[in-house]
Amino acid sequence: MAKEFDVIVIGGGHAGAEAAWAASRMGAQTLMITLDPSKIGAMSCNPAIGGLAKGQMVREIDALGGLMGLATDATGIQFRMLNRSKGPAVWGPRAQCDKHRYAAEVQRLLSTCSNLRILRGEVAEIETAPSVDGGAWVESTAADTPRSAVSGVLLVDGTRLRCRAVVVTTGTFLRALMHTGETRTEGGRVGEAAAKGLSDCLRRLGLQLGRLKTGTPPRLHRDSIDFSRFETQPGDDPPTPFSFLNEYATGLEGPAATFCDRASFSHSSAAVWRPPLPQLICWLGRTNPQVHEIIRANLHRAPMYSGQITSTGPRYCPSIEDKVVRFADKPAHQVFLEPEGLDVPEIYVNGVSTSLPADVQEQLIRLIPGLENARILRYGYAVEYDMVWPTQIRPTLQTKQVQGLFLAGQINGTSGYEEAAGQGLVAGINATLYAAHGPKDPAEFVLGRDQAYIGVLIDDLVTKPPTEPYRMFTSRAEHRLHLRSDNADQRLTPLGRRLGLVDASRWQAFESRQGSIDSAIRWLKSVRVEGMGAYDWLRREGNDWQALLQRALTAGLSPPALSPQTARLVEIIVRYDAYIRRQNEQIERFARLENKLIPPGLDYSAVIGLRNEARQKLATFTPRSLGQALRISGITPADVTLISIHLARRSSASGMGGRD
Ligand code: FAD
Repeated sequence: MAKEFDVIVIGGGHAGAEAAWAASRMGAQTLMITLDPSKIGAMSCNPAIGGLAKGQMVREIDALGGLMGLATDATGIQFRMLNRSKGPAVWGPRAQCDKHRYAAEVQRLLSTCSNLRILRGEVAEIETAPSVDGGAWVESTAADTPRSAVSGVLLVDGTRLRCRAVVVTTGTFLRALMHTGETRTEGGRVGEAAAKGLSDCLRRLGLQLGRLKTGTPPRLHRDSIDFSRFETQPGDDPPTPFSFLNEYATGLEGPAATFCDRASFSHSSAAVWRPPLPQLICWLGRTNPQVHEIIRANLHRAPMYSGQITSTGPRYCPSIEDKVVRFADKPAHQVFLEPEGLDVPEIYVNGVSTSLPADVQEQLIRLIPGLENARILRYGYAVEYDMVWPTQIRPTLQTKQVQGLFLAGQINGTSGYEEAAGQGLVAGINATLYAAHGPKDPAEFVLGRDQAYIGVLIDDLVTKPPTEPYRMFTSRAEHRLHLRSDNADQRLTPLGRRLGLVDASRWQAFESRQGSIDSAIRWLKSVRVEGMGAYDWLRREGNDWQALLQRALTAGLSPPALSPQTARLVEIIVRYDAYIRRQNEQIERFARLENKLIPPGLDYSAVIGLRNEARQKLATFTPRSLGQALRISGITPADVTLISIHLARRSSASGMGGRD
């Protein structure tokens, strides 16, 4: 095998898979090094992708040319659009997947990347050399002055490999410790070892590390459950695919008659996407006061309460012991039973994440109606791991201290497959750009808060140190109506095309769909139905594209044929026209501050009138723009005005006109 690469990705989780996919598809000679290649794409916790806000991120990953949406569609065993009763801004696609087939599909997709190599191994050291242009940025000793640059990696077995950029995606594995009651085992995931050496190396490189925790519920044997005691939870019929490629394939627009049965005016089955795997149902049940009593009686044996675990876990995804303590007056909590695959017996008990001892887990599970005879195949556990405080990275996910070193996924303090994958994609892209252009002419890929949930995620990470594992919510985004799951391709596919991640066939399908939308809008603005413009008719409460088609065809008009997904998109554009326009104006105002860039290495002590607290914060966070500076907690609009005046003075003094 070659000893020299453009990009080395450490880790084969969801961040690592996207990073390696992006780098290799953009043409970088890429190496993925991971502890166990057969676990690439493994779902450590729940066998599901997407959900509220997370589903939007998967659509964004797909629109940019990533792999998560493709793997989900190929292996989904139940698809549901969450929040459908609310507005389209907060719809969240979610799919239950066959977790073994999902990992296999990720591995298959990676195997199609011609310049990607995969190596089993543990990276112990990231090797560096003095930074390439150390002096060029130095206006101060600000935290964004790089002190060294990546030169390669050293494996535990002594293998030394050279590279220009490294993406670290070590997830929950760094100095990982698993807890089930009083039992502690070293390991990043059940049955897998921890990675020990890399944490010390990251510290030596000048990075500050923290420690977080997360947990997982027990898995039960399907045949030991009385499902008749649970409510059934079927998926959507027809399901909505994650990948735009699958959506486009069912949306080959043509004359209306191709897709519409004139008698019923409903879309024909040819326009409906069918997932390749059989679809399953899930089940919903509840805990009860007896379950809560057992938990309360054993709290002293729960690592979170006995003092055995001191690190913070996700508040929004609490363990059952947390729920019983924090919501003491609630008599019941929901329990979802979710199959982990088509031909495996494991059922995932969503809602009962726990690190209580095995004997307590046995008791509490059997007190849930329908689980009286349940057989536990794997006990729940919590895992503690090292992470890197993400205020030490730039919005490109490159560390401020070490040139060419990128971090993505759970190591940045996030939790969740989708959050990891979104970062992996951005880090893979930027590592490739860095490897190709070097630090002197930095070509960067940064997504804004107005462009993508992935942009919101990364901006939050670099401006607000997480106090618990970070997960995405729709409430974190200020431009929700713009960041919808249905329009992710309009927002991002052109960017993916420019980067070389979107291939010709996807681009052609995207352009064709875009053309259908544009001509449908033109048509709506040009014809009248029932005495009014069709555009206004469609805007009215209760009207939809199907009903419009019926009227148009009866009136002898020739409406364009749209697939169900495209028709839905046209309805949203028309119905929310005024809101979308208002949001676009907000985005434009927002962009004014976002586009005012702050030069790297700016000496904040030279900004006249700036408060000391603001100086310290700005020197630590080193924001990229005035907009980002304003989002740092404790930084006021007045502080930002002072920086703006300073930058204007600086640029007029240098006669360069400045970057803003
Ligand atoms: P991972 O998927 O953890 O992958 C890390 C990869 O790095 C692995 O391939 C590993 O082999 C490799 N690696 C690590 N160190 C080295 C090294 N030195 N050299 C080479 N390779 C290395 N998320 C939620 O959203 N909700 C939950 O409730 C939840 N619970 C979880 C419970 C448990 C027990 C675990 C383990 C995870 C849980 N997660 C949960 C988190 C979810 O699994 C992660 O967010 C996601 O998998 C992170 O992806 P990643 O790519 O960052 O890392």
